[in-house]
Amino acid sequence: MGHVGIIGGGVTGLASALSLSKIGFQVSVFEADATPMPPSPEEAFDWNRRGAPQVRHSHALLGRLHNLLRDFHPEVLKMLLDVGATEIALARHMPETLDDLTPYPDDKDLFMIAARRTTFEWVLRQIVMSNPNVVIKTGQRISGLIMTEGDIPEVQGLMFENGGSEFFDLVIAANGRRSQAPEWFRGRGIELPEEVEDTGIVYYSRFFRVHESEELPVSDRLVAGDLGYLKYGVFWGDNRTFSITLATSDKDKTFWGVRDSKVFDQVVREIPAAGEWLTLDADPITKVHSMAGLLNRRRSLVDEGGVIIKGFHMIGDALICTNPLYGRGCSTGFWQAHLLTKAIEQNRDDSMIQAEVFAEDIEEHIIPWYQASVDSDRSNRELENGVPSEGANRKSILQNGLMPATQTSAKVWRAFMRMINLLAPPKSLNDPEIMADVLEMWEKRDERPAPPPLGPERSEMMDVLGLQEIA
Ligand SMILES: Cc1cc2nc3c(=O)[nH]c(=O)nc-3n(C[C@H](O)[C@H](O)[C@H](O)COP(=O)(O)OP(=O)(O)OC[C@H]3O[C@@H](n4cnc5c(N)ncnc54)[C@H](O)[C@@H]3O)c2cc1C
Repeated sequence: MGHVGIIGGGVTGLASALSLSKIGFQVSVFEADATPMPPSPEEAFDWNRRGAPQVRHSHALLGRLHNLLRDFHPEVLKMLLDVGATEIALARHMPETLDDLTPYPDDKDLFMIAARRTTFEWVLRQIVMSNPNVVIKTGQRISGLIMTEGDIPEVQGLMFENGGSEFFDLVIAANGRRSQAPEWFRGRGIELPEEVEDTGIVYYSRFFRVHESEELPVSDRLVAGDLGYLKYGVFWGDNRTFSITLATSDKDKTFWGVRDSKVFDQVVREIPAAGEWLTLDADPITKVHSMAGLLNRRRSLVDEGGVIIKGFHMIGDALICTNPLYGRGCSTGFWQAHLLTKAIEQNRDDSMIQAEVFAEDIEEHIIPWYQASVDSDRSNRELENGVPSEGANRKSILQNGLMPATQTSAKVWRAFMRMINLLAPPKSLNDPEIMADVLEMWEKRDERPAPPPLGPERSEMMDVLGLQEIA
């Protein structure tokens, strides 16, 4: 039938192995990190994942991912729930203030999954490993590709850092944000089309676990906000864990101190919605982890002349990565694996057609999310830099129109939940019916009492923390 070599055993490498093995392919997954399979998700949380350091950060697992699991890989969803993840039925947590609380048929798709990223990866790996068509080799770094010469070179196999090589019928690079594939091709004079924009943020996350006496408060209320100089979010995990993430500008040295656990907790306490979580009967289970160099980036294996490499696909963060603040990478990565498998299944013997079909699907389904991330970051940057733009207006409509309307109009609440869970395209909120309710709410913004501030102004926060401005 065919033997596929996958570079990288993160979410999208495993997702590709899962779906390709189900349609009869032999699959070998090579993961650089030496992470033998531990007996439980708790031990996986301590995995040394140098190759995917983002596993130390909060991860939202959205409706699109939930539904792909439910509809195509129910055994994964079942095992996730069995090992302590929670399936959050958003419609069960509708705000009581909505104008219509009647359930809708589409509500069956409004789900999120509360689980740590390592738990999700552990479950995926367990299930994939149980398929006799799949072999996973950890601690096995790929150092290059076996490739033919010619106008359109064909990838025929993989070279291993510790010596040796292996031939495959098809190779998939699922080796993440730091994928070396562009360099491997550059070495052969091939430049992959690429577009990149730095998000300019630094991420700080810390995990906690509530004691057995306390339930994790799970609801539809997304605890996330933007104080201008600092963004925050609270994420549910599995097995009574939760995590808090702060994000600051990578140029704001004054706030780099939030990497210190004490400072981090102090900042969180000053933000009412997030601080509430620190009043739970809970203990921190990690220090504060930080991560910078976060990009919006898209690549392609197709240029104006068509497909540029045979026998090879790229997927996940290696192909497209977006600002983690929007929490979409695992869901869009899993979706990509699903689309790629479809393209391969329908064109088993022609990797060029597979690549064309996959590129079209990416353009239709994934690029709108990439573009939404880029547009939103640009508009935030303009706002921060005081550049006169439409950004200020858009932000005001978001804060004083859309967000309050999600609490009163069932139509807006559903449209918003569908959009953030990747079940409706980013532009779906521009629908005239939705916008009418949003704008009505926005136009009446001065008739309502001003909402309480999300948290202190920058100077107040600096005073509380005893920070001096660092230029
Ligand atoms: C700070 C942060 C927070 C995030 N938060 C969210 C969130 O809330 N929700 C969400 O859905 N997404 C989030 N993301 C994005 C998400 O983590 C990624 O989109 C997702 O991990 C991509 O999966 P992947 O399989 O493509 O890459 P990865 O998960 O990075 O896996 C790539 C794998 O390839 C391996 N590898 C690399 N090179 C080689 C080689 N040469 N040979 C063999 N193996 C190799 C690496 O060791 C790694 O295991 C976040 C990202 C960051 C940075």
